[in-house]
Amino acid sequence: MKIAIIGAGLAGLCCAITLEKNGLEVDVFEKREIAGDRFTNAEAMFSMTQHPVDDAVKYLSETYGIHLKPSSNIQKLLCYSKNELGELDGKLGFINMRGKHPDSYESQLAAQLKTDIQYHHNVSYDDISKEYTHVVLATGDPLDTKKLQPYDVAFRATFRGALIEGEFNQTEAHAFFNYDIAPKGMAYLLPHSDTTASLVNVYPQYPDTEGYDKEKLWEKCFEECCRRLDQDFTITSNFSLKDYIIGKAESSRIGNTFFVGNCWGSITPAFGLGQFESMLTGIYAAQDIAGLGDYDKLTKHLSQGYHDSLTLRRTLEKLDNDQLDLVTKSINNKFAEELITNKHINLFKMIGRTLHPFSRKA
Ligand SMILES: Cc1cc2nc3c(=O)[nH]c(=O)nc-3n(C[C@H](O)[C@H](O)[C@H](O)COP(=O)(O)OP(=O)(O)OC[C@H]3O[C@@H](n4cnc5c(N)ncnc54)[C@H](O)[C@@H]3O)c2cc1C
Repeated sequence: MKIAIIGAGLAGLCCAITLEKNGLEVDVFEKREIAGDRFTNAEAMFSMTQHPVDDAVKYLSETYGIHLKPSSNIQKLLCYSKNELGELDGKLGFINMRGKHPDSYESQLAAQLKTDIQYHHNVSYDDISKEYTHVVLATGDPLDTKKLQPYDVAFRATFRGALIEGEFNQTEAHAFFNYDIAPKGMAYLLPHSDTTASLVNVYPQYPDTEGYDKEKLWEKCFEECCRRLDQDFTITSNFSLKDYIIGKAESSRIGNTFFVGNCWGSITPAFGLGQFESMLTGIYAAQDIAGLGDYDKLTKHLSQGYHDSLTLRRTLEKLDNDQLDLVTKSINNKFAEELITNKHINLFKMIGRTLHPFSRKA
């Protein structure tokens, strides 16, 4: 067997580590200079979207021997709609660094790999597919998948974000569901220390949202964030992304070519979370190659999760700010909080299945 992985991101690295653990040699190609050579930002993993896994970090460690150190635990999630504030408390998940930060998940994973990553190798599938018996496409770019098979694009997203300075509690994450700021989308603030945080405004690009001025929305977002958290934050660096594709590949694999991470469709569309799912697809592909499982079957629950999450997104998109206020307010109800944070209940699956007939009626 001769195995190549294109892309040393979350999915590619987890795949490579798992192959190594099973005694298989692999060539890992990465177009950038180091793993995680992109803008720094904080990302989150939420237990409530990862059912039945309660603690993703513990699960990856104990089940697959992949050890991650997040930057903090989330003990409180504050949800702001236009006029309401909803709060969730509990063991909600983790905040971690991505990109150039020395503690980013990419650099933590790269450090667990014994094989040398071949940096500065911007390879195409055509370049290497003849040389290798197995190819794992892990470029994080669904356009690479689209060259090989159908990929259903749910939507393209615009991100506008910044690193900001202020005073933060690292155990608190903040989410803004206000369509005046992020039409059909959301903004979120994730602290990475007591004094620094990432603030991101993200919304889907549809014909009715394309006309919005990204920078004007960002200004509103920043002002609203300062107002609701009652601080004058300082921006230290900015980033911006457009046309970020969220969708799903038709097939998990074609012959011995495996699609993992974003190339598979690992981002759950409702809230744009995809880190844990990307890592799992990488691990599952490696298990298949090592003869320990069937990639199609292993990813089945993730496919279902994607579709449930898409249903939830389509429903959320139909709400207006008044309805978002009602939903946000309802979170403060103890029963609702218990439902959302109960590790035995897959709330997103329940909502997805219940809303499916309604969300189809566009
Ligand atoms: C701004 C932003 C915020 C996000 N926030 C969250 C969050 O809070 N929580 C969450 O769970 N998810 C979040 N996500 C989603 C999450 O980051 C992705 O799901 C995840 O990174 C996808 O992993 P991947 O391995 O598929 O791709 P990546 O991690 O992007 O890795 C792909 C790698 O392939 C390399 N590469 C690309 N092309 C080639 C080539 N031709 N040859 C060699 N190498 C190549 C790239 O340089 C890169 O290193 C966010 C995404 C963005 C953009």
